[in-house]
Amino acid sequence: MEALNWDVAVVGCGPAGSLAALESSIRGLNVIVLEEHGKVGEPDHCAGLVSVTGLKRLGLRVPEECVLNRVYGARFYSPSGVSFSVSRRSVQALVIDRRMFDRWLASLAQSAGAHLTLKRKVTSFVRSLDGVHVHVKGGGEEKCKLLIDAEGCRARLAKMAGLPPRRGRRPAVRFEVRGVDVDPDFVELHFGGRLAPGFFAWVIPTDEGARVGLAARSHPRKRLAKFLSTRFPRAKVSRTVAGVVLTNGPVKRTFTDRFMAVGDAAGQVKPTTGGGVVTGGICSRIAGQVASEALQEERFSSGFLKRYQQRWEKILGKEFSYMKLARRVLNRLSDHALDSLFKALIEHGGTETMEAYGDMDFESAAIKKLIANPKILVKLALALLTLANPEKSAAPTA
Ligand SMILES: Cc1cc2nc3c(=O)[nH]c(=O)nc-3n(C[C@H](O)[C@H](O)[C@H](O)COP(=O)(O)OP(=O)(O)OC[C@H]3O[C@@H](n4cnc5c(N)ncnc54)[C@H](O)[C@@H]3O)c2cc1C
Repeated sequence: MEALNWDVAVVGCGPAGSLAALESSIRGLNVIVLEEHGKVGEPDHCAGLVSVTGLKRLGLRVPEECVLNRVYGARFYSPSGVSFSVSRRSVQALVIDRRMFDRWLASLAQSAGAHLTLKRKVTSFVRSLDGVHVHVKGGGEEKCKLLIDAEGCRARLAKMAGLPPRRGRRPAVRFEVRGVDVDPDFVELHFGGRLAPGFFAWVIPTDEGARVGLAARSHPRKRLAKFLSTRFPRAKVSRTVAGVVLTNGPVKRTFTDRFMAVGDAAGQVKPTTGGGVVTGGICSRIAGQVASEALQEERFSSGFLKRYQQRWEKILGKEFSYMKLARRVLNRLSDHALDSLFKALIEHGGTETMEAYGDMDFESAAIKKLIANPKILVKLALALLTLANPEKSAAPTA
């Protein structure tokens, strides 16, 4: 294909890519999106739980046909089955069909003027004084002034650009199941070092059954099958999807000359839950704004683009830090300590705190309040102090 000149080339048409393209296009930039697959949104891997407040922050009104269910709260289960619920009267999150959602977002970007191209896998790029040459599998090339990397968790281009590597990847598997008896208003989160070391298992009710998934340090499929057989012995699995959940927060640097990384490619994912549609989306919109400023001023150096990171850190930096801390603590707790923590949360007002201060995407307020509760803090400190070997205590036994 003949080289064309674009203001911005966006690599990847997931939510982050579409939102960066949308934001750049509505600001009048000439944008191309390169997506390696033949259809936007496929293959999907996501559980599709997105907070209502997060969607509002992104300025998105999701069309009804993308919504499979609405949930009001979550039930948390400890390893021995101690459980509590956190809910509100209003809908807290939508369960979306990610394939349709991604296509809808791509259509918004296209309506704003972005040029979407499919079956175009970007293999490498070369920066020069006058722009970026983007190489496409099969021999094509596009030339742009600025590259936005939204290629998801593989982040090969970010590595090529010299951005720091991301850590904290958890293999995940999700089953779509039918014939299950679930409360349609609540998601379930099941914790335990034996069940899912380094993460948790989840049950998300949909219109036809549930999405039951699990991420862990190892063997997620085997662990999920075992969980399913105890939680829903009669369940029929209609579909299995695998993916990677990121748990270490953003990379230290998300930009360099003529290059910004957004979404999973930049690790802009909540370390507590692995959710990244909203947090990555917020950062992607900022990248689109900064792209427009860079074009206006014809300045593409990392010195100029650092404002991208400064802006998303101002909104989300503290949130990622607290969520990372919470993830680290959870990873270190033995099953016994998790049981004690759950009991302490129930007995000492922790669940009320979560209801009052909880926000699915901005979790720092609730985490700070929980740590400030002396009875919960003491339990947590004791649990952490009594751990002789954290890795061993969370190791799988099956
Ligand atoms: C099991 C699981 C469950 C999850 N559940 C949730 C959830 O409930 N809620 C939530 O908010 N988040 C969830 N997440 C995380 C969420 O899926 C991601 O944070 C989100 O998809 C990130 O969006 P993205 O656009 O950065 O990347 P992606 O959605 O991965 O999109 C990247 C796109 O880039 C394309 N691409 C990649 N490389 C190239 C290339 N070289 N050239 C061209 N195109 C390329 C891909 O084909 C893809 O379309 C889950 C993740 C997993 C694994």
